[in-house]
Amino acid sequence: MSEIIRDNIFKVRLPLPFKLDHVNCYAIKGQDGWSIVDAGLNYGPSRKVWSEFMDRQGFGAGDITGIFVTHYHPDHYGAAGWLQRLSGSPVYMSPVDAALTEKIWKNSFQNIEIFSRMYLENGVPAGLISEMLDNIVDMRQRVTPHPDITTLSGEEEVRLGDRYFQVVGTPGHTDGHVCFYNKENGILLSGDHLLPDISSNISLWPHSHPNPLDNFLTSLAENHRLKVSLALPAHGECFTNVEQRLAELKEHHRERLNMMKRIASRGATAYRVCLEVFGNGLSSHEMRFALTETMAHLAYLEKRGELRVSWENTVYEYSI
Ligand SMILES: [Zn+2]
Repeated sequence: MSEIIRDNIFKVRLPLPFKLDHVNCYAIKGQDGWSIVDAGLNYGPSRKVWSEFMDRQGFGAGDITGIFVTHYHPDHYGAAGWLQRLSGSPVYMSPVDAALTEKIWKNSFQNIEIFSRMYLENGVPAGLISEMLDNIVDMRQRVTPHPDITTLSGEEEVRLGDRYFQVVGTPGHTDGHVCFYNKENGILLSGDHLLPDISSNISLWPHSHPNPLDNFLTSLAENHRLKVSLALPAHGECFTNVEQRLAELKEHHRERLNMMKRIASRGATAYRVCLEVFGNGLSSHEMRFALTETMAHLAYLEKRGELRVSWENTVYEYSI
């Protein structure tokens, strides 16, 4: 479940109970101890992998000196509190995503009402809404205990093992997503910002920036300035063709924007556009992400004046 990527950098593959069945966390060994990047979900199977990894490498939780979380999503943040309790180590996050942990994971009852209204107003059938909401409740159990968070300024270098990494703000996948960049070796710990096989989910949420896709495309454009020879992503294999991947992702969103604009031009709710793009074979968990991804693209088009949105009795409808 773990492999060595470079001297003292280990990829620790943790299971996830979803269609996307794993998350890669990274453990970096240094003279003073171990740095961890992302923690996995807090549930039995991933705690087991962490324990086995520590046993095999011959260290204990007390040897962890820092836990760095790329963003607030449950598969990255979930076990950070558990690891902090074991190790006493600081947990570092961007201030934006630290604030989102409060809004998303700690205000559950308000969120259920907010999400329920959002789904309804975007055309999701009532029967499906309750399934989608059940999913959110389940997830909250896998992100506790919450850690005490030390916020990163976003400008600093942090020491992971014995290497220094620049904190690189990459808003888009979440508003406060960060990557960690080691210039000397050209290594980018890319979290969910850059993935080798799938595009990062870019979602419009009630708590998120109103145009997350614009943020994401800006982050991709800025990434060209980094000289990356090896990207260490949170899902999939490590990869070297970073420039090519940046171009592919830009093209993917351009195509998807065109497709959604074409569908919405006939007049459609976000849910209708989502079904046409993603099909109707999605689980309720997958539907949550597909719908908010669709909404992020529609919001981008609307803010550019390429679509307009109107309130039609009980739902928002997009049209040209
Ligand atoms: Zn994520």
